Amino acid sequence: MYYIPAKTIISNYTKDNPWFGVNYNMNIYKGCCHGCIYCDSRSECYCINDFNKVRAKENAIEIIHKELKGKRRTGVIGTGAMSDPYNPFEKDLMLTRKALDEINTFNFGAAIATKSNLITRDIDILKKIKKHSPVIAKMTITTFEDDLCKKIEPNVCVSSERFEAINKLSSNGVFTGILLMPILPFINDNEENIIDIVKKAYECGAKFVFAYKMGVTLRQNQRDYYYEQLQKLFPYRKLVPKYKNTFGNRYEYASTNSKKLTFIFKNECEKLGVLYKMNDIILSYQNQYKREQISWF
Ligand code: SF4
Repeated sequence: MYYIPAKTIISNYTKDNPWFGVNYNMNIYKGCCHGCIYCDSRSECYCINDFNKVRAKENAIEIIHKELKGKRRTGVIGTGAMSDPYNPFEKDLMLTRKALDEINTFNFGAAIATKSNLITRDIDILKKIKKHSPVIAKMTITTFEDDLCKKIEPNVCVSSERFEAINKLSSNGVFTGILLMPILPFINDNEENIIDIVKKAYECGAKFVFAYKMGVTLRQNQRDYYYEQLQKLFPYRKLVPKYKNTFGNRYEYASTNSKKLTFIFKNECEKLGVLYKMNDIILSYQNQYKREQISWF
């Protein structure tokens, strides 16, 4: 493992964050080796050279300990925005696990986004945090098909294993759901995919499926990388010219089926009682704690 120096790890407080109600952000690792072909964190604007190489922040747990101890307000700490906190090195290093321990000690909540079933290793700590603060686990699943998953997200467990992880988290009482994003035009933007994911989510006890927009964002070198991978993975489908003809140099690439897919998605979620609106998700995993705080005062 390569280590890089860090002065701070936990961001400043944000109130009423519309993104899952997260108050602080934490990235223990820089870079990610899961290899998702569409990864936005690869974009030049984030200045992460050699993105596929994972680096850990030096003395991360000491820094986190000090920062949490000094915070005047508790809140939900989010992780998984710029790199996956459960990369393969985490299995031995256990930095995310140790950080969750600190989060528990100082009475903060946790919001974890990942594609790895390694998160289930930490169910014991998530259950401890849940006793005093909100916890939400967000598993990204973009395709129901394991074969397609192996192509577009090659270095992390496949979708069926992620569904198993959701089942395990949910049956242990952890508020868990799916980030159904991105939707890649001409690749996973079909009705069956959306319906199968929502249905399986429901069967596995997921409380929500969140799909931001039925599309993907692409910019700068990230777009170049994505196009190279499309060419390599789907050589006979002529996807690159199709993308260029349909979207030009746009930043947001919405599926040409996006309206229909959104309709089907909402319909399926409503039919099964799976949450899909951000406000409902936030209320559902945080409200109990807010009520407890009010009644305590
Ligand atoms: S898991 Fe997330 S951070 Fe890692 S490569 Fe995939 S999209 Fe990027």
